[in-house]
Amino acid sequence: MLNEANGSIAGAGALLKILRDGQARTRAELVQLTGLARSTLAQRLEALLSQQWIIPTEEAISSGGRPAIAFTFNRAARVVLAADLGATHARVAITDLGTEVLAERAAEISIDRGPEETLAWLQRTFEEMLAETGHDLDEVCGIGVGLPGPVEHSSGRPVNPPIMPGWDGFPVPEWLGSRLGAPVLVDNDVNIMALGEHWAARPEADHLIFVKIGTGIGCGIISDRRLHRGAQGAAGDIGHIRVASALDTVCRCGNIGCLEAVASGSAMAARLCAAGVEASDSRDVVRLVRGGNTQAVQLIRQAGREVGDVLASIVNFFNPSVIVLGGDIAEAGEQLLAGLREVIYSRSLPLATQHLTITASELGDRAGVIGAAVMVIEHVLAPGSVDQSVIRL
Ligand SMILES: [Zn+2]
Repeated sequence: MLNEANGSIAGAGALLKILRDGQARTRAELVQLTGLARSTLAQRLEALLSQQWIIPTEEAISSGGRPAIAFTFNRAARVVLAADLGATHARVAITDLGTEVLAERAAEISIDRGPEETLAWLQRTFEEMLAETGHDLDEVCGIGVGLPGPVEHSSGRPVNPPIMPGWDGFPVPEWLGSRLGAPVLVDNDVNIMALGEHWAARPEADHLIFVKIGTGIGCGIISDRRLHRGAQGAAGDIGHIRVASALDTVCRCGNIGCLEAVASGSAMAARLCAAGVEASDSRDVVRLVRGGNTQAVQLIRQAGREVGDVLASIVNFFNPSVIVLGGDIAEAGEQLLAGLREVIYSRSLPLATQHLTITASELGDRAGVIGAAVMVIEHVLAPGSVDQSVIRL
């Protein structure tokens, strides 16, 4: 069916979804599954082929007859630019449409340099990486960016980010999009980590919580397989929930008693410093724990219990099937998980923990860039977007 108003081919996107999911591969299977007339199907397949969204392959038939033509989703049809910008370091990647990483870079760059300097660096980095991998800007279908603060997802603008001077309300999508010529999607870093982990490592989980413990603490929520951002994009900000053990501690947000003020990487580094152990950030804490420093080990176990205390209530409230732990501090692995599990299993309701898995992130420090790519891929391959991309020939 042609949509005369905008020249797009309605229904091509839905067909691509079927091929991506592997529900059908040949014309005969597609006709059977969709009930489409052969001529309509042919027109939609032609449109998808013209944009290289699919590629034809020969399917051997077991009976020995003539091979049938099958169609498969072409992951190499476009490339995605993905960036996970943290407080002090960044990871940047180019991926295909199946989140396979084609090129990747990590760099030490502080977000407090402000938006223009940081984004100019990002633009240069993307351009260099495209050149290195032999791709050009025409092949880029979208750019995904994660930022270490609250973001209004619809506009892609940061909203009062506490550790990002100069970024409040900055038009990130317009700035990058006008220079790189592709749509730009922006979200909070923990949200994209949750997306990445869910897509790549836990696709079977309907309800998942990704907890990031690094310089700060936050969580991304997958509810019914979709990211739950909340009314203002502030959902999952567990770092500023009040905990009893922190009542004498002032948080960087100005309140007293926040979880982040006792259990984040920076809080632990400060406590170690006060005890005469040299540590300036989360990575120092992890290094000390791995080296067997007793004070650091005790501190991280206690941090696990503190975070577990908050998560125990969240488990009762939200009933996730998986809790994934990520961020710099998660690299301390079992020491942190031990404290966390101890409290969650003893404090949450048995029904809620019966089938609950608590685990470390499988993607590790790649969760953010993979999630940024997923955010773009889901947008670009949404049936409506694909319909728009295939114009009547
Ligand atoms: Zn706080």
